Amino acid sequence: IVIGMIAGISIGTALNWLFDDSGDYAFVVFGSTISTYSILVDGIFNVVGSIFVNSLKMLVVPLVFVSLVCGVCKLSDPTRLGRLGGKAIGLYLATTAIAVTFALFMALAIEPGAGVMLETDKAFTPKPSPGIGQVIIDMFPQNPIEAMAQGKMLQVIVFAMLFGIAIALSGKAGERIASLFDDLNDVIMKLVMILMNLAPYGVFALMAKMAATVDPQAFVNLGKYFVLVAVLLLAHGLLVYPLIFKVLTGLNPLMFLRKMRDTWLFAFSTSSSNATMPVTYETVTRKMGVSRNIASFTVPLGATINMDGTAIMQGVATAFIAQMYGVDLSGSQLLMVILTATLASVGTAGVPGVGLIMLGMVLQQVNLPHEAIGMIMAVDRLLDMTRTMVNVTGDSMVSVIIAKSEGEFNQARYLDPDAAGEEE
Ligand code: ASP
Repeated sequence: IVIGMIAGISIGTALNWLFDDSGDYAFVVFGSTISTYSILVDGIFNVVGSIFVNSLKMLVVPLVFVSLVCGVCKLSDPTRLGRLGGKAIGLYLATTAIAVTFALFMALAIEPGAGVMLETDKAFTPKPSPGIGQVIIDMFPQNPIEAMAQGKMLQVIVFAMLFGIAIALSGKAGERIASLFDDLNDVIMKLVMILMNLAPYGVFALMAKMAATVDPQAFVNLGKYFVLVAVLLLAHGLLVYPLIFKVLTGLNPLMFLRKMRDTWLFAFSTSSSNATMPVTYETVTRKMGVSRNIASFTVPLGATINMDGTAIMQGVATAFIAQMYGVDLSGSQLLMVILTATLASVGTAGVPGVGLIMLGMVLQQVNLPHEAIGMIMAVDRLLDMTRTMVNVTGDSMVSVIIAKSEGEFNQARYLDPDAAGEEE
């Protein structure tokens, strides 16, 4: 996978420099001219990369539904479920609020937007931010099949939990169904392993396409913004998380970071916590020793509601845009940014670029012009890839913390650097 990534970035960068879409290296096919660049980038890289991402996404709904039903059947004690849910949601939201607050204040101190004025011709229409009541109502599906078909993860999670509780309460019939779900879970995990074999080619194609299409000039124009977001993302992933992890679990955080490697590669190349979910699940259960019961709950929940990396981008972007337009944000506006960014992360799925939609909600709350999003869009893909790595690190960290506190953690597996076998 690493070789695929490096080769993809190198070939994409070479294409970016050497060719352009109307280049000399063109062929005439059925009367129309097609450049080599477009055959490679829009053709081969796009097709291979999209098949890879689609096949990961294909696994998400079956994996979440089946593994969560299995997990809940075994944890059916309602007080335990409530405690688990409370801890997970509390940790996810608290880390997101810390991330956005930290980013906002760093950006206010460093002022990346002072003296910058960029033109944009890209229009951006923000969505209104949903009220907290609506976020809660939207968690309950009217139709579970529709929720699955549309990939509405919170609704799938709620249905799976209720279904799992009902199985646990259904005596003999419940036992038969539970063992069927156990077997299904094994089959789906096998499918995950099979599709992982595609990863090197998929990662190659995604990286090549990304490197061939970035606009280097945009990075010069938005240099300070880009560097500040990137540095804060790295600091959150490599310093803040390990610190929280050490304090709450007492475990060695370096082992945790080491075991995150595959998940990072997938997150970086797909830019989607949702698409990475099968890999995150496999990492925390098979490599880190989190029980399936806990991971089946914390991983999908985290992929949906936990977006610390995205919150960091929003904190910096809001301050950057305010500085660019010479607007001073008041104390209550800053609080509004923190609250909106944290709550917006709850209802939005971990898919590429969703951070920009959430940023639209935040800017609207504090009356900043949302056209400004068009400017930062030019450098967003690379930041999206990086913040998705931070998001999945948060999902995995919270899974370990909760598993440890619930006694559902296999420490020997965590301490074994090469652990990869069947989880219990
Ligand atoms: N792509 C991110 C994720 O999937 C969300 C975002 O920041 O746009 O976690």
